[in-house]
Amino acid sequence: MAGASVIIVGGGIIGLSTAFEMAQLENHAGITVLERHRVGSGTTSKATGGIRTQFSSETNVRLALLSRERFAHWQGIYGGNPRFVRIGYLFVTARERQAALLRTGAWEQQRWGVEVSLLTPPELARTVPGMTTEDLLLGTFTESDGIADPGAATSALESACRSAGVALHEDAEVQSVRLDTDGAATGVTLKDGTTLSADRVVVACGPWTAPLLATIGWSVPIHPHHRQVYRTGPLPTWPPTIPLTVDLDTGLYCHSDGGAVVFGGGDRDTSPSFDDRARPSDVAHLGDALMRRWPLLGEAPITHTWAGLREMTPDDHGVVGELPDHPGLFVAAGFSGHGFMQAPAVGLVMAALATGSPSPVDASALHPGRFCRSEDGRETAEQYVF
Ligand SMILES: Cc1cc2nc3c(=O)[nH]c(=O)nc-3n(C[C@H](O)[C@H](O)[C@H](O)COP(=O)(O)OP(=O)(O)OC[C@H]3O[C@@H](n4cnc5c(N)ncnc54)[C@H](O)[C@@H]3O)c2cc1C
Repeated sequence: MAGASVIIVGGGIIGLSTAFEMAQLENHAGITVLERHRVGSGTTSKATGGIRTQFSSETNVRLALLSRERFAHWQGIYGGNPRFVRIGYLFVTARERQAALLRTGAWEQQRWGVEVSLLTPPELARTVPGMTTEDLLLGTFTESDGIADPGAATSALESACRSAGVALHEDAEVQSVRLDTDGAATGVTLKDGTTLSADRVVVACGPWTAPLLATIGWSVPIHPHHRQVYRTGPLPTWPPTIPLTVDLDTGLYCHSDGGAVVFGGGDRDTSPSFDDRARPSDVAHLGDALMRRWPLLGEAPITHTWAGLREMTPDDHGVVGELPDHPGLFVAAGFSGHGFMQAPAVGLVMAALATGSPSPVDASALHPGRFCRSEDGRETAEQYVF
């Protein structure tokens, strides 16, 4: 591996999207992705592929709208087919306070360009046959949202990167980022001791971002949280297409997937851990809450259980931008369970930031300075903007 002008650490959907967009802006020159295992084998391989535009902040909405547009026109932009299907995305609640938040949120999202509608309980019953709706107060529904296939999207992006001249190296674990005496990024050191130079380094290591930044004394609050997903066998009694539906009161969600159902959630309050092993017996913890909302799932044989790490930040927003005091060192991570759906837009934003080009979305609210602190305890910026 020779020196590169840009090194991107991490070959997940975020690193690949960034590399692809950077190659468009930098005339394909000197973009290298370093991935410690196989490209796409990290958290991205565990995502269920939900794509939504309902968010509580304008920044996330803008990223989501731009990303969804690119998922819809994927083939012309990247080639390949991520199998994006607009099954719709629905949040429901039976709680007054949550209903009030949903109403206000929908009003704001409409101002930002999201086509979100409020659904009454009878409308909810028609939209999701088989869901218990008697206790529900309302739902917010975005018909044009949906799901895509993370594996198909990643392999399409990998091919697009290679065609665009990006150098992708697997089995290349970065041990530390190299800085000059002024703190500017100069490259990386690999686990085998190889040093590589670059004038910009982008850390896109998903849930493993904090340990790498800790090697240069930065503490970024991106915490790994176990998330488990279940897929049932064929369910003839289940409607063939129901939206990705999230019960906000329990955090449980489900959606149809061919003749089967995929469900999960309800595990938001777990302690941070890098253990991403599947624990099929945990399905028992979902028991009553799941059965109350979707009684049909009681008939469901579970054929697959898988788990991964969601990369959570204290404000559930990604960390995107150049580290204060470290010119040329960028972070794109911590998307808090939204990284798959936001990746196309994040790639564009990161490439713009790292090349000094105009960004399609103002992502200044995601700047790492909002909660990064150097280990000497210096505050570098205001904390928690949301
Ligand atoms: C069960 C589950 C369901 C999810 N469902 C959804 C969903 O429906 N919709 C959605 O938008 N998001 C979802 N997510 C979140 C989504 O998967 C992530 O936000 C997204 O994949 C993050 O992509 P990434 O590229 O940042 O991280 P990753 O895909 O984890 O990529 C980071 C890469 O960096 C590599 N790496 C780490 N350290 C080093 C190092 N030192 N040197 C070199 N390489 C390194 C890793 O091997 C990895 O491949 C889900 C997550 C889970 C766990």
